[in-house]
Amino acid sequence: MYPTSAQADVFDPTMKKIALIGCTGSIGRQVCEVVRSHKTEFCFSALVAGSDRAGLDALKEEFRPKAAYLAAEIPSHSALFADCDVAFIASGGFAGLKYTLAAIENGKTVALANKESLVCGGELVMRAAKESGADIVPVDSEHSALFQCLGMRRDAPYKKLILTASGGPFLHLGDGELKRVTAADALRHPTWKMGAKITIDSATLLNKGYEVIEAKWLYGADFSQIQAVVHPESIVHSIVLFEDGAMLAQLGYPDMKLPIQLALTYPARLPCCHEVDLAEIGTLHFERLPEERFPCFGLAVAAGKEGGTAPTVLNGAAETAVHAFLQGRISFLKIAETIEEVLSRIPAERADGYGTLSRADARAREEARRLIDE
Ligand code: MG
Repeated sequence: MYPTSAQADVFDPTMKKIALIGCTGSIGRQVCEVVRSHKTEFCFSALVAGSDRAGLDALKEEFRPKAAYLAAEIPSHSALFADCDVAFIASGGFAGLKYTLAAIENGKTVALANKESLVCGGELVMRAAKESGADIVPVDSEHSALFQCLGMRRDAPYKKLILTASGGPFLHLGDGELKRVTAADALRHPTWKMGAKITIDSATLLNKGYEVIEAKWLYGADFSQIQAVVHPESIVHSIVLFEDGAMLAQLGYPDMKLPIQLALTYPARLPCCHEVDLAEIGTLHFERLPEERFPCFGLAVAAGKEGGTAPTVLNGAAETAVHAFLQGRISFLKIAETIEEVLSRIPAERADGYGTLSRADARAREEARRLIDE
């Protein structure tokens, strides 16, 4: 911890205090950039890093939060959020869910960049938010775009939510070529700069399947009301179709700083990113999502429809398989095969609490490791 009562005095009561979980990851570093750009608006009450002690120490020195921990050294998840105005959950994977639940139980506004919190724990998270009155503000660029198109309300009426997908680096490759792609190929995302796991999930389109599930929970949508289309330029971040046929879209350069900042300032907008020059871009394209060549998308949506622990099992298998792919231990196509096989071996149960999800996650990882080691 980084305790001193003297440091508590540097906080201006008009500043928004942020507890940032996952401060040294890709999103966390960009949250720090946003705070750096608006030092009179924001400060950190707490910083939590996964395992990068040097990175955490440097941020502690720069931002002087009241508390700073490595994830394994946190004495109480709930206490992390005692002092904050916004809990920014930017850590990756299933591990993010326990922070999201703790922040919600404390009734805090949650800026949610951890998509697994909704993919795996959507039912628990939304129920807990309803009970505590906590507000959940989306940070994923597509869901931030939908939020903006809906007038920054999550209860606004709509007919359809249309998520855009860059399609990743392998959009037009056939099965023969997909069999041979490497982690290095997959990490070369054409438009977005992101962490390794989500970049691979973009290449398999698992990420877009996750975003369908996120949209379902955030906006109370039926799966039939959510569509994903490929938009290779990543300028249109998502679209809402209304009852009368009108469509509203949000456009901007692919830069996570905008959704990150908006989650902290909404409904206000502060200067952030440079403007899109449409004349310079010229043409924007849209095409059908090639679900048949990227089975991870359909697997995720099917697990989302099944509900209960199914999405947690899917995610546990996916985290394990992607890790093995990044290490060069399995092929790109084996990621989807592993997920599918693990889902077929572990029947879904009711998601009646965090303990049930945590056990399903552990079992899925174990099954996936067994398959990978075979
Ligand atoms: Mg996204």
